[in-house]
Amino acid sequence: MLSILELERKVVKTDLCTNCGACQGMCPYWRSYEGRTFVDYECDRKEGRCKYFCPRMPADVDGLLKQFFDEGDIVPQLGAVKELYLTRAADPEIRAKAQHGGTVTALVELALQEGFIDAAVLSKAGEGDGATLDPAGCLVTDPAEVRKCGGSSFQIPPTMATLNEALKDDVYKKIGVVGTPCKTLAAYKMMSKPFDDNDNNADNIGMVFGLFCGWGLDWKGMEAFGDAAHVDILPSKFHRMDLDDKQVDLDDVLPLVRENCNYCYDMTAEFADVSVGGARSSEGWDVDKGWNQLIVRTEKGRKLVELAREKGVLEFREFGGGDAKAAAMDKLKNAAASKKAKAVSALTDKYGDLGYLEPSKDAFKDYIK
Ligand SMILES: Cc1cc2nc3c(=O)[nH]c(=O)nc-3n(C[C@H](O)[C@H](O)[C@H](O)COP(=O)(O)OP(=O)(O)OC[C@H]3O[C@@H](n4cnc5c(N)ncnc54)[C@H](O)[C@@H]3O)c2cc1C
Repeated sequence: MLSILELERKVVKTDLCTNCGACQGMCPYWRSYEGRTFVDYECDRKEGRCKYFCPRMPADVDGLLKQFFDEGDIVPQLGAVKELYLTRAADPEIRAKAQHGGTVTALVELALQEGFIDAAVLSKAGEGDGATLDPAGCLVTDPAEVRKCGGSSFQIPPTMATLNEALKDDVYKKIGVVGTPCKTLAAYKMMSKPFDDNDNNADNIGMVFGLFCGWGLDWKGMEAFGDAAHVDILPSKFHRMDLDDKQVDLDDVLPLVRENCNYCYDMTAEFADVSVGGARSSEGWDVDKGWNQLIVRTEKGRKLVELAREKGVLEFREFGGGDAKAAAMDKLKNAAASKKAKAVSALTDKYGDLGYLEPSKDAFKDYIK
């Protein structure tokens, strides 16, 4: 079957597509509009890169994890964990625009300044007054531009299309990319080079910065809430989404969660050099607000984080007394396991098997009911 038809039938038409953009930016055939991916024209390739880069096409994700990360570091629920920290950007200007503590912005800025990467693919909101609507991928080479992309949109832009375009040009040799778990999985699928002679210069991916992610929202659904400078989903006990000063009951938000997010098994962006989420320690939300949890997954990630400590770019906070760090780790494992269990249940309901995770069936067997 033609790749384009296979991808359309297996992923786009079955509501599995995340709109990550991994199929776009290499050819004129795949496009995206308001959070939806579509085929613009027919292509006659039987083995297209689009099909192999897509994070929702069947692949052995467990094998991929073992290929790229130290097996001894792999925690079944979380992927590779070398270190877990509570951090925030030291610069208050970064924190003011950031989603949580600005750890991602501070690390990407430092990575550019220190030559870990020579360009960064980020996401930036559109031209409205706020920062949460109409996001798009953007390529940044000036460290001073990174902080303009701080904060989160819960709409899902096709950021990987921007990465593919930058890779295709072969100008930058160490491109950093920031993304939600679907996007970072796509980046590692690219780096696994399914076509040795036609890999869109995937070796030029220099670092991957993962974002924890529960789900994204439908493009129109998010528009209905209006633009805001800052949006956040609070810890589950609050059952709330805040858009600036406006508080929205989560019951009004959950119907707008993208269908494809129900099939995602990864909460902590397991495919990344470092992964960052909101802090959840035993100290409670009043203390955690404005801080991040940071998982270091690779040696390159560790070097960058240690440099950030040395240079005072990141502030580090203790988890609390006694075995508070172990408790935070357990909390994270439970939350991540719960997302895996939900995805496995949604996939088996839909397909009768694990769908795109079937090649890694053994790694998910404990979640099958
Ligand atoms: C769809 C979505 C769901 C999320 N769900 C969770 C969750 O369940 N639990 C949790 O702890 N945190 C969640 N987050 C927040 C995310 O984990 C934070 O971005 C992370 O904690 C980094 O915080 P920070 O202050 O360091 O980020 P910042 O320093 O503000 O940097 C944020 C970075 O994210 C990029 N970005 C913004 N919007 C998007 C987007 N839509 N797609 C890709 N990149 C984007 C920006 O370019 C920027 O580089 C979610 C974020 C998104 C986009």
